[in-house]
Amino acid sequence: MFYEKTNQWNALTQAQEKRLWKLAEDYKAFLSRAKTERLANEEILRRAEEAGFVSLDEILKRGKISPGDKIYLNQKGKASVLLVMGKDLEEGMDIVGSHIDVPRLDLKPMPLYEEGNLALLKTHYYGGVKKYQWTAIPLAIHGVVFTKDGQRVDISIGEKEDDPVFYINDLLIHLSADQMKKALSEGIHAEQLNVLLGHRPKKDEKELPVKKAVLDILKKTHGIIEEDFLTAELEIVPAGAARDVGIDRAMICGHGHDDRVSAYTSLAAIMEIKKPERTAVCLFADKEEVGSMGNTGMESRYFENMIAELLALSGKGELAVRRSFAASRVISADVTVCFDPTFPEVTEKYNVANAGCGIVMSKYTGVRGKAGSNDANAEFLSDLRQLFSKKKVVWQSGELGKVDQGGGGTIAFILANLGAEVVDMGVPVLSMHAPMELISKADLYSAYTAYKAFLE
Ligand code: MN
Ligand code: MN
Repeated sequence: MFYEKTNQWNALTQAQEKRLWKLAEDYKAFLSRAKTERLANEEILRRAEEAGFVSLDEILKRGKISPGDKIYLNQKGKASVLLVMGKDLEEGMDIVGSHIDVPRLDLKPMPLYEEGNLALLKTHYYGGVKKYQWTAIPLAIHGVVFTKDGQRVDISIGEKEDDPVFYINDLLIHLSADQMKKALSEGIHAEQLNVLLGHRPKKDEKELPVKKAVLDILKKTHGIIEEDFLTAELEIVPAGAARDVGIDRAMICGHGHDDRVSAYTSLAAIMEIKKPERTAVCLFADKEEVGSMGNTGMESRYFENMIAELLALSGKGELAVRRSFAASRVISADVTVCFDPTFPEVTEKYNVANAGCGIVMSKYTGVRGKAGSNDANAEFLSDLRQLFSKKKVVWQSGELGKVDQGGGGTIAFILANLGAEVVDMGVPVLSMHAPMELISKADLYSAYTAYKAFLE
């Protein structure tokens, strides 16, 4: 008569338990590699190619598609689509859409300056960050720089054991009387997020000797000059790998669970899809954290164009594209809030997700009176409920915090605009948007089983 949540840990068979620990190890390796959207995209496509996915360009050259074909689209190295052809693309797709961008600090176009015998880099934060969390921790730099003649140089410093790391200063507590009186949001402001790049001066150099010395090093190690920063994309992220947390190793802390945990689990799921009835798709989008704009964000039409290209191979036009989207079902795979016993006041205990109780279905997100939300249809939720019950997927329901406490959105509404059925489903995360976030391995496993059941 009464509904009770299932704890995923208690619902595991021996074989499932084995799969869970293996999945967690592979996820940590993925997350430790995929420190930026570019690196995540690279890792996703590397694994996809290994599993037999072929580029859209290659498919178009061949000029035909058949059920079971595995196809990928690489959108400018920052976003991608993986697709396994079903019987009839026009009849709709089953889509799991996640995002691979994560809040971070980007370098400004003119970042480098010297003061007080220190060479520092100016940053501009990306997405929603609590600025004070980024001080006094080891940091890494990743990204791409183009030289004067257009040569691409990949930069990645701070992850290897013997790499140097980078650092943002905070104020010593001894002189923090004024800072400590400020609101938490004012304690460290954006223009104070300056990253230490170097300190040793160039010998006998009168003018800006430290800046000159670090530029000498960059020239020598990477072949780049100061002007190259103007057109570069360089990102500051926490240094180091994802780690097990807890004496029982039941949780994982790492940079960017939001939303690379959805990317990883849906990737793991689609790898195991052979010949689906309906076309199975995974989306790995960029720019979700800043509103999904730009030609790598979900508002862009690259995915629609891909479907149009594929349908055109069977002589089908625009109407077939629209039919395909309108008949599609989408899981907007994004993380959500997890009940935190230290901060119970922001969530409502009867409608918040709990760690370990599986992937979270959020019927709606949004703020205030569900503003900006995709409110999923009961008919679609009922179909999913039956599917998950049949496939023994452990899942729970959850709202993003108390009503009027705040809120958020995902890419859900964008595909709903094309007529598809869409619901938000993702892993509950602790310390979301902190440099290092925390999840349960049970919820990682549950997400994988849910996405797999859906894509099959
Ligand atoms: Mn997210
Ligand atoms: Mn987010």
